Amino acid sequence: MNMQLNIIPSESSKPAKPSLHDWEAVEAFRKKYRIDPAMVRKFRHLVYNQHRQIDSAMSVWGQERHQAIVREHFDLEVMRVLQRHDSTVDPSFKLLLETIDQHRVETVLIRCGESRASVCVSTQVGCQAGCPFCATARMGLHRNLKAPEIIQQVLLAAQITRADQRPLRNVVFMGMGEPLHNEENLYEAIRFLNHHHTFNMPLRRISVSTVGVPDAMIRLIDTFPGLQMAFSLHSARPELRGRIVPWSRRYSWEETQEALRYVATKPKTHRHQGPVMIEHIMIDGVNDTDEDADALIEYLKGMYVMINLIPYNSNSFVQNWHPTSRERRSEFANRLRNAGIYTTIRYSMGSDVQAACGQLVVKQDSSQTSLKKPASV
Ligand code: SF4
Repeated sequence: MNMQLNIIPSESSKPAKPSLHDWEAVEAFRKKYRIDPAMVRKFRHLVYNQHRQIDSAMSVWGQERHQAIVREHFDLEVMRVLQRHDSTVDPSFKLLLETIDQHRVETVLIRCGESRASVCVSTQVGCQAGCPFCATARMGLHRNLKAPEIIQQVLLAAQITRADQRPLRNVVFMGMGEPLHNEENLYEAIRFLNHHHTFNMPLRRISVSTVGVPDAMIRLIDTFPGLQMAFSLHSARPELRGRIVPWSRRYSWEETQEALRYVATKPKTHRHQGPVMIEHIMIDGVNDTDEDADALIEYLKGMYVMINLIPYNSNSFVQNWHPTSRERRSEFANRLRNAGIYTTIRYSMGSDVQAACGQLVVKQDSSQTSLKKPASV
């Protein structure tokens, strides 16, 4: 089995000071200064459960001189908001964030219905998976995000949604980067979100999307039973999938399918885990024929899955790919439904602010910029 942990070492990725979102660093600090654990719990409750600004929650550390020690020891904000882009066509918006070492990433907040919101977080600065339709892939990979940087994205989203009385319900790891190429920080972030002293977010409300890293998919679902998973399949024909998701060529077809089958049959033992969401981007004349639908049906036979058909967003990278028409999408969906597979067609949120699937990209500063030429598919 291929081992693809891909933890990218980067000196510049280490913040000078630890973050207050760093569980171990805060615990070490608490022990060193013999701080009452109740004080730390109160601070975490205010910040991660009540979503108070960190500055305003600082009073729990007591006198001014104690607060000064905390400020001196920790970075209070590991990401700052540079810009906010609100969609004019739906209630989603995108935040442009900057890390302490001046990398930029994007986070998308999706408001669903009257009372729910989800946040789509980034796990890497850029991505190395190379999907030709994806704006993030153009950046290449700069570095992995640290767990506190992932947590900060969720906290910012939670603060905003609390202000408009629409609690944050779901966290989806579907922003910039391939989460399973950053396992260490992904795991730390999930544990933090799930902890009852912080966000107390059930695993069933956390979803990780992957292009398919077989051994990492199995590790993830075994480590976090009940976590939701999305799998970017895009085609059940090996040669075509290799073009739409180039990273998939690194593994054998059978190995990937077996890993998916493992994850998609686990609910027998992990009762909270829903079906694996199979993502299928709809590209006109490329992967939307009846034969493509039949290949999907065959590939997914016996698995506990649902299919999410995603309208393709045209871009300048792949000149000859266009979105499938609405009628064809419906026909394709009905063919899958007739075969007994639960199928939805995603309304692509935030396309006018480049917040939709495959549209997240950030121009890094000139020393980091490495936008690549359009891919040949
Ligand atoms: S679609 Fe996702 S996995 Fe593929 S290149 Fe873009 S960010 Fe990476």
